[in-house]
Amino acid sequence: MEELKEWCHLIPKIELHAHLNGSIRDSTLFELAKVLGEKGVIVFAAVEDVIMKSGRSLPECFQLFDLFHILATDHETVARIAKEAIEDFAAENVVYIELRTTPKNNESKGMTKRSYMEAVIKGLRAIETVSVYFLNTDDSTDNSIEAILTNDIHGAKKKNIYVRLLLSIDRRETTAAAMETVDLALELKDLGVVGIDLSGNPVVGEWNTFLPALTYAKEQGLPITLHCGEVPNRKEVQSMLDICPQRIGHACFLENEEWERVKSSKIPVEICLTSNLRTQRLESIDRHHFADLYKAKHPMVLCTDDPGLFSTSVSNEYYLAASTFGLSKGELIDLAQNAIEFVFASDGVKKALTDIIQAAKRELQQ
Ligand code: 5GP
Repeated sequence: MEELKEWCHLIPKIELHAHLNGSIRDSTLFELAKVLGEKGVIVFAAVEDVIMKSGRSLPECFQLFDLFHILATDHETVARIAKEAIEDFAAENVVYIELRTTPKNNESKGMTKRSYMEAVIKGLRAIETVSVYFLNTDDSTDNSIEAILTNDIHGAKKKNIYVRLLLSIDRRETTAAAMETVDLALELKDLGVVGIDLSGNPVVGEWNTFLPALTYAKEQGLPITLHCGEVPNRKEVQSMLDICPQRIGHACFLENEEWERVKSSKIPVEICLTSNLRTQRLESIDRHHFADLYKAKHPMVLCTDDPGLFSTSVSNEYYLAASTFGLSKGELIDLAQNAIEFVFASDGVKKALTDIIQAAKRELQQ
């Protein structure tokens, strides 16, 4: 068991579904919440136990989402969360991540969607312990096996990570606000923004509100990924598939007919095992649609969703898949490699990622 866990840690991994504010470190959350408590913004005692807990219930997760929204109104905090999140993903041997976040307007704090994103990018620039390649022009890194697998950040080699950003449209937003997010994504293309996501509470909002912005994004050549079928809503799932998204996330409540469409169109699925379990989208992990998709060789990628919120890591998601569905070490590394095909970055980056995983295969399978 320990050996398998270690293997899952060592594999260079691709993370395509992680929300920035859901990736906050527990220690940072604790520290920042305490300060907010001292300032009288929140009642710290009301959240302290939830922050300290690892197996949080669904209502407790929503309690923390509310807290994240208060924290994300400060530019310095946003930069810190982004910096630490990338450091943590790199420590897990994630070599490529598409980190998604909802650009936020907050007039009273002097925050615009653009200044929020500038704070995220400031956080990426501030990382020193890891070599971060986030500009669209960065498409080759130090691909030596030492750089990929080294655990000693104080040594000569640092870990490498490619970072790309997805801008999320929150389901609470208006059509105009969603359009603003797409325009911002187009403006920030050179700073690593590669696509658009639709997320937020799945029982809030109407599909037709977001459709114009998503269609506009596609017309402008921005790939889109949609949180799809998190709750039973067949009509919405069908409408989502009608616009041919480049990827979908979760896909917990799809009927056979919609699965047929997903499979025949080979739409990659971002699988978030722990998240789906915690948010009670399924009764038990062994009943997850991962098993059917894996058997069908359908394109998919293992992701964390909100590693901070759900106390998980990409390595842990690989371990969970291996231990639940009986995947071998070789199958796990193939799963990581297959994900390269579904990234929204350039062919140059895909080539570099292929080299990285091939090198790791040679090293690890010796
Ligand atoms: P942020 O966009 O603020 O960086 O990350 C947190 C936000 O991501 C949440 O407020 C929510 O809108 C979205 N989010 C995080 N996890 C999930 C999830 O499992 N499902 C959906 N639909 N949205 C999520």
